[in-house]
Amino acid sequence: MEQHGLVMVYTGNGKGKTTAALGLGLRAIGAGQRVLLVQFMKGDPSYSELKGIAFLPGFEVVQTGLHHWVTKEQVSLLDRMEAQRGMNVARNAFVEERHELVILDELNCAIDYGLIPETDVLELLSHRPQFMSVCITGRGAPSLLMDVADMVSEVIEVKHHFHQGIPAQKGIEF
Ligand code: ATP
Ligand code: MG
Repeated sequence: MEQHGLVMVYTGNGKGKTTAALGLGLRAIGAGQRVLLVQFMKGDPSYSELKGIAFLPGFEVVQTGLHHWVTKEQVSLLDRMEAQRGMNVARNAFVEERHELVILDELNCAIDYGLIPETDVLELLSHRPQFMSVCITGRGAPSLLMDVADMVSEVIEVKHHFHQGIPAQKGIEF
């Protein structure tokens, strides 16, 4: 059966978008496929998922973003350049055609924060090789992206332990 690539989006305010995308990556590796994870606005190399991914041959990671928390009011030129670097990595992957799945983690946030123009993402997706799947995560997916996607899941926050005062937990959040 010929591989039919899909554009998939995980958005919404609830927890589970990045972990869902990583789960997709795990499944793809199990299927003998190659995966590229490009992270936007995540410069911290100590995330446990990166250590887990290191056990998986064929699962490549490129992190972009500085080692600090970006706020909408304080976007720097370097934040923009880092996000552009992530887009360039994705663009190259589309040309090289080495991966069956490309995950663009937190790209929706990078658009929302004005680091990447939405039109650039739509333009990028128009060059997606037919066999390749692309998974985009992050809160606030723009509606035009949701229009072109084949699958959109919105994770709704019903409850989050954060509101009980429980801080981020190793192995669960990072
Ligand atoms: P995860 O990485 O756990 O799958 P996510 O990708 O859905 O979460 P993001 O929107 O990327 O979540 O937010 C990053 C961090 O914020 C996560 O560690 C997550 O636990 C936390 N978070 C997610 N949703 C909420 C929420 N509704 N309230 C407070 N913190 C949240
Ligand atoms: Mg996330």
